[in-house]
Amino acid sequence: MSLKPSSSRRDFLKKGALAGVAAAFVPGARVVGEAAARAPRKAFAGPIAISSRNGTRAVEKAVEVLRSGADALDAVIAGVNIVEGDPEDVTVGYGGLPNENGVVQLDSAVMHGPTGRAGAVGALEGVKYPSKVARMVLERTDHVLLVGKGAQDFARMHGFPIEDLLTDKAREMWVRWKETLSNRDDYLPPHKPTDRDIGANLEEVERHWGTIHCSAIDLSGNISCVTTTSGLSFKIPGRVGDSPIIGAGLYVDNEVGAAGSTGRGEANLENLCSFLIVERMRMGDSPEQACLYACQRIVDHTRLAYLLDDRGRPKFNVKFYALNKAGEVGGAEIWGGDNTFAVADAAGSRLAPLAYLYKRER
Ligand code: ASP
Repeated sequence: MSLKPSSSRRDFLKKGALAGVAAAFVPGARVVGEAAARAPRKAFAGPIAISSRNGTRAVEKAVEVLRSGADALDAVIAGVNIVEGDPEDVTVGYGGLPNENGVVQLDSAVMHGPTGRAGAVGALEGVKYPSKVARMVLERTDHVLLVGKGAQDFARMHGFPIEDLLTDKAREMWVRWKETLSNRDDYLPPHKPTDRDIGANLEEVERHWGTIHCSAIDLSGNISCVTTTSGLSFKIPGRVGDSPIIGAGLYVDNEVGAAGSTGRGEANLENLCSFLIVERMRMGDSPEQACLYACQRIVDHTRLAYLLDDRGRPKFNVKFYALNKAGEVGGAEIWGGDNTFAVADAAGSRLAPLAYLYKRER
């Protein structure tokens, strides 16, 4: 089923090295090269916080909370709450873009390094601060993930009606109409893996992506993280992205580091990249190298023709952010050039460059 040869390790190392050159030096942040990554890792007593680019205020807030001696989980949640409550940010919390039925459905997860516990919510409606609810799942239940009822609506649309008045024949005609109604939705008509044009439009300019991830190290050297989003705009009701899935939208190992993601959640769900990044850091990769490794993993695993450009590269983007136990930070994306992520520490806040595999033509 593979439509393109996967890149060789040599190609990848070359791309990684080039991307490393593309990423300029970040004052204050300890973005490291290979040699430093392989040096013994000493625990770093914070404060330090990183986030996606929309999180400058979030990392500043997180560091302010960390300075008071708070747990990293308190800090990252306080940070992202600013963005969740901001009606101007249409990709997170209050004011987030809705699903195709006009209903805002939010996804969020938190993970606490010292206890290894996680909490998450998927397709949550009507709550401005889903990260707080995710934390309640962590603290006050014996579960990890609670989801809304969107999946029921979707199931009904596909032939599980409450009132059984619709024949299969009529339903199939309706589904066919829906599948071909627009090239800007996520329904796919029947297709083969090799079909290029199936009526789906994955160009990023046409769809709204956005999310905030935040990871931090507190004054005790403990690490926690959060990811929160309204997910893909105009998504199919009940669609849950990568953000609330532990190992995909975020992951922390208190002895190694933390990672998180934004961008096309489906690609990350199929590759569990936050977990992968933390494991790569455990093996000695720097945060940036580990993020590039995850980007390359997605590229290698993307084989459906409609997701690929004419050179066999994914049409979509995914971004990763990571920090390790030593306080080194880094990030990478599949398509980049001038993108950044937010970092704050004792020296203040700044935007640091994201490394990338492919340069986006403007
Ligand atoms: N990763 C999010 C999702 O797939 C969206 C985003 O980050 O833009 O729901």
